[in-house]
Amino acid sequence: MTRHCCDAMDRQVNWHCDQHDDPYDCPDAFIDFEPRFQEYGLIVHDPGGHTYTCINFCPWCGQRLPESQRDRWFDELERRGLEPGDDDLPPEFRDDRWLRHSP
Ligand SMILES: [Zn+2]
Ligand SMILES: [Zn+2]
Repeated sequence: MTRHCCDAMDRQVNWHCDQHDDPYDCPDAFIDFEPRFQEYGLIVHDPGGHTYTCINFCPWCGQRLPESQRDRWFDELERRGLEPGDDDLPPEFRDDRWLRHSP
């Protein structure tokens, strides 16, 4: 499990709400963490959408957040001849495990 910078961030990333399974449907949820990109995003409450705005600093403790690995993720897929939309994308590319596999 990924450790976050502070308790407030931990609570937000592991957001749980009885009324909404998806944090994107919940007006009280603020932050989404995308493990495969190591990205923290501010949830955009756009009905039916899954959009977030990337943030570089924690809004609660002010700590600098990890650098986004999004470009590396796409580079790594390309290097292996994989497509991002592939149904049989190796499972390590769905979370942060791919980061440990590559140098
Ligand atoms: Zn924090
Ligand atoms: Zn809710």
